[in-house]
Amino acid sequence: MFHRRSLKLAALYLGIIMFISLFFSFTVYRLATVELDRGIRGPMPAFDNRYGDELPQQARNFLRQDAVRRSEDAKEHVRNQLIIINIAILVGAGFLSYYLAARTLRPIEEAHEAQSRFTGDASHELRTPIAAMRSEIEVALMDPKLKLSEAKKLLRSNLEELDKLTALSEGLLKLSRNEHGSLELKPTSVDKTIKEAIDRISSKADSKHINIDYKTPVNMNVLADADSLTELLVIILDNAIKYSPENSSIEVAAGLQRKRALISVTDHGVGILETDAQHIFDRFYRADSARSKTQAGGYGIGLSIAKQIADAHNGNINVTSTPGEGSTFTVNLPAVS
Ligand code: ADP
Repeated sequence: MFHRRSLKLAALYLGIIMFISLFFSFTVYRLATVELDRGIRGPMPAFDNRYGDELPQQARNFLRQDAVRRSEDAKEHVRNQLIIINIAILVGAGFLSYYLAARTLRPIEEAHEAQSRFTGDASHELRTPIAAMRSEIEVALMDPKLKLSEAKKLLRSNLEELDKLTALSEGLLKLSRNEHGSLELKPTSVDKTIKEAIDRISSKADSKHINIDYKTPVNMNVLADADSLTELLVIILDNAIKYSPENSSIEVAAGLQRKRALISVTDHGVGILETDAQHIFDRFYRADSARSKTQAGGYGIGLSIAKQIADAHNGNINVTSTPGEGSTFTVNLPAVS
């Protein structure tokens, strides 16, 4: 598909180049022939001045015929040269056109592929819990002796799925709208943002008896949109809690390094394999889908939203991790001096 589109575009480029080249070649040839014809058709003042009437008519005719022959040779020579030049342009421009067409189409093709992968993944993620809910409900409806307590249990389980679906559709909307693309960045206190994020996530941490340790507040500002930066930290803290055992701890720290603010979140949870670490910022990537889905219940879009937010702040996120021991996510943003 990509190859065919590249060929079509290359043919178009080549057509345009050859049209221009042939147009100029034709013009050059016309001008050259007009000039050559003018030279032999007109009077022969050089001969007349030098020999007057001395030169017999026969000699004059011979000289004129010779001039005509040489002019025809010259025309043929110009024609051959132009043909060779055009063949060279055809071959050279053919390769160049294909190269340029492939280069032009590559990013469009990649965006197209990413878009269809995204749509496919998203519809798969939406379909799976809906199918699960449907079959649960159907089984319950077919049971004539269904007890109220069982019905309530089913409704609670459905409600949980619906909460997850709501979170997923909100995340998908955020990702597809790329609403962090045009943020208004203002000097924002790192300390306040960290505290706000910890505050938002504290009930979840409490439910797993996880202690979030943020002891050394920093007096540092970054160029950011406060709400988005808080959202980014909440995503990382939420993951740290999800992938940590009960009664563990999470450390949050911030510091300045070469005019960049570094905010790190360290957990002592399951950790991430090196092969997975390269992909966890991709949409829908889960290091271990069974584990992530059944126990932690994620859809693999949190970190891609976090990355989108970091990008919008001219920053980045990276991770270092030891499987079985824990992970450290570090956000790097431009500091305000
Ligand atoms: P999810 O909703 O599945 O957590 P994310 O995009 O937030 O999606 O994370 C992608 C994957 O990265 C997760 O499924 C998990 O496997 C891995 N991951 C993210 N944070 C951590 C962490 N703190 N510890 C271990 N694994 C993590």
